[in-house]
Amino acid sequence: YSYYNENTILYFDGEYLKATEAKIDLYGQSLHYGYAVFEGIRAYKTEKGEVKIFKAMEHFDRFKRSCELIHIPYNYNNEELVAACYKVLELNNMEEAYIRPLMICPPNMTLKAASESHLLICAWEWGAYLGEKLLRVMTSSYQRPNPKAFQIESKSSGLYVNSILASQEAKQNGYDEALLLDINGNVAEGPGANIFFEKNGKLFTPPPGNILPGITRATVIELARELGIPLEEKLFTIEELKQAESVFYCGTAAEVIGWDSLDGQTFPKPWTESLGKLLQQAYKAKVLEKEFKREAKVA
Ligand code: PMP
Repeated sequence: YSYYNENTILYFDGEYLKATEAKIDLYGQSLHYGYAVFEGIRAYKTEKGEVKIFKAMEHFDRFKRSCELIHIPYNYNNEELVAACYKVLELNNMEEAYIRPLMICPPNMTLKAASESHLLICAWEWGAYLGEKLLRVMTSSYQRPNPKAFQIESKSSGLYVNSILASQEAKQNGYDEALLLDINGNVAEGPGANIFFEKNGKLFTPPPGNILPGITRATVIELARELGIPLEEKLFTIEELKQAESVFYCGTAAEVIGWDSLDGQTFPKPWTESLGKLLQQAYKAKVLEKEFKREAKVA
């Protein structure tokens, strides 16, 4: 997969440059120590034919907080950064795209916090990240990082080595994706997505604390409320999850994606009849700014 070509334009520190010509210094903390922060945002072509970035301000608010949590200077106005994202889409003639802001620290090999930072915003066309098929998930042998050892609510680059290890392990074992537990053995999240399960007409998801507070997660909670679906944030174990009727992951890249099985054990409710499927449709309608009505007979 090529993320850019000779015509691709990106934003770097207030300028719009060719991706093939933009440069960063190789002697930096971001590259050497993973001391950088990123976001993942999606743009959609709405029902009216407009290009809209979904929850752009929420993503930049999290971006800012992620930087602050690990002491990377953030000297930007979020309205301007949202405008820069639209400009990148326009310059590349992109309508449906994944947008990646990345805050990079300048050359410095010490372990001191950065005193300046540089901002890249690039975009590429990306379909369904985890595909459309139901996921065969494996409980990872890797835990999510200890919240006392890291600012785990900061979407920091270095943290994603953990995600890569977990995803890789799952794929090597013939699964589609991993599920990671927290340091206490409760279910936390996927390598790049939050988890929900359905049981007795109700949805459950882990509370903030040991997870990345996903913007899609917040949207799913909002949609569940609008649709009158009861929902509870609580900690739960793998054993409890294995008693679920159906399960799904959600994230900006993955959107809402159902599970087939966990460690080879399938879930009893057909996806098409699940609350997850209903929320998948409601989510799709929301990002496309389409009206969504829950049909009389559901789940
Ligand atoms: N958890 C992790 C570890 C992630 O990387 C992501 C993707 N950013 C999510 C959850 C989902 O977050 P969001 O819905 O904001 O994309």
